[in-house]
Amino acid sequence: MSAASPLLRDVFGFDGFRPGQQAIVEAVTAGQNVLAIMPTGGGKSLCFQLPALLREGVTVVVSPLIALMRDQVRGLQEAGVSAGALTSANTPEENDAVWAAMGAGELKLLYLAPERLASGGTVPMLRRAGVSLIAVDEAHCVSQWGHDFRPDYLRIGALRQALNVPLAAFTATADAETRAEIVEKLFDNHAPETFLHGFDRPNIHLAFSAKNNPRQQILTFAGARRGQSGIVYCGTRNKTETLSKGLADEGHNACFYHGGMDPDDRRAVETRFAREDGLIVVATVAFGMGVDKPDIRWVAHADLPKSIEAYYQEIGRAGRDGGPAETLTLFGPDDIRLRRSQIDEGLAPPERRAADHARLNALLGLAEALGCRRQLLLGYFGETSEPCGHCDLCETPPDVFDGTTAVRKALSAILRTEEWFGAGHLIDILTGTDTDKIRQRGHDSLPTYGVGTEYDRRQWQAVFRQMMGHDLVRPDPERHGALRMTDTARPILRGEAEISLRRDTLSRAATRRPAAR
Ligand code: ADP
Ligand code: ZN
Repeated sequence: MSAASPLLRDVFGFDGFRPGQQAIVEAVTAGQNVLAIMPTGGGKSLCFQLPALLREGVTVVVSPLIALMRDQVRGLQEAGVSAGALTSANTPEENDAVWAAMGAGELKLLYLAPERLASGGTVPMLRRAGVSLIAVDEAHCVSQWGHDFRPDYLRIGALRQALNVPLAAFTATADAETRAEIVEKLFDNHAPETFLHGFDRPNIHLAFSAKNNPRQQILTFAGARRGQSGIVYCGTRNKTETLSKGLADEGHNACFYHGGMDPDDRRAVETRFAREDGLIVVATVAFGMGVDKPDIRWVAHADLPKSIEAYYQEIGRAGRDGGPAETLTLFGPDDIRLRRSQIDEGLAPPERRAADHARLNALLGLAEALGCRRQLLLGYFGETSEPCGHCDLCETPPDVFDGTTAVRKALSAILRTEEWFGAGHLIDILTGTDTDKIRQRGHDSLPTYGVGTEYDRRQWQAVFRQMMGHDLVRPDPERHGALRMTDTARPILRGEAEISLRRDTLSRAATRRPAAR
């Protein structure tokens, strides 16, 4: 990419590409349809800004956040690039200036708020302006099921068709479903060139802990990081308030943030967090998109996040500046129940709910992992890696036992029921439980029926979760979350490999709610 390197230095001031950027820049510049999945902070903007300069005509950039758009436009203008934005925050004069620059054929990048696409005049005007590329930032906003859904994003597909130019979509959301939805809505189901890279954030230390006096666990974690900016994510609004008070009582500079607060109060917290050093924000996930403080030194989860993607996004807010950052995620049986009921009581259709359960399961697998957490996390996103040496499990490997027999029994139950059932029913089979479903399906006559009475239900649940963590089984969203065996499990089933399981999660599961702790 020799043509790009002088621009990379002269316009953007970078010495080289970050991992993954060059291939994306080349594909976009060549006019291919591209879907690039890059983590937040990975350097997405360059991947459409540089091609915009290398290509003839105007590049339209659709972006959901006005503040970020204005930021980028300012940055480009300072670097001598002709760029403008059309947003609802513009004055009529600003709009006129943008249209004039475009009419004169000077503009290289036009940032566009999605709402603009709803007004009838926009598309014809863009057609006359000589648009040669559409870039879509935060492309997951087309997903109706994500909490960032922006209805106007659904108009981008029609824009692409009207202009008949290549489209490059960017998102940090890596799960397969959202990807499929982006391909459907933005590319009319024609598979774009897809790139996935750079999910590793090596400066972030990863750790999970089973809940055991969780309030104290958070206070201890924050206490060891006094004076540093941090976020504590909680599962409920109420808890953000009580925990924030608990932190304040210990002398921390802490406040809370949730969706039930008045917009002005929320904005006040956002502003304080951006400006002050060492503020702790105790928040629900409402504190999210748009938080781009670079020096957040830690993120703690007082409750288990709702999915592995949410976990990744939330811990990813720490250490954007590349400096050391620490995370701690607490989990317990109550979280699993809370998250499951949030999914079940949500408005999503059944197939969506099954997929959400599967994403939660993937996170549970990570929580109860045996080997390197980073390796498992990156593997979920499709990246292969070596053990990281910078997570709690690399530092302190857990106590394990030979779980081969238990796993074989579980796999056998899965296969004998043709991979059509979830853990609950499989556990009924293994423990020889008599239910209507068992009798209706004739599963009481399976050879596997009742072969697993050495463990109780909770212990089997721990076995299944760990099997997911090892990627021996995967919930299939197309089968309502039924567990299916992966190729990784075959050697174990055939007796060619053994498998270790964590002892702690199993014995914890066996302890029925200790009376006092
Ligand atoms: P995001 O993927 O979140 O949109 P940005 O495009 O804002 O990320 O980039 C994140 C940061 O990385 C920015 O500060 C940007 O200047 C920097 N950056 C991007 N590409 C490079 C590069 N090739 N070399 C050095 N810094 C880069
Ligand atoms: Zn590790």
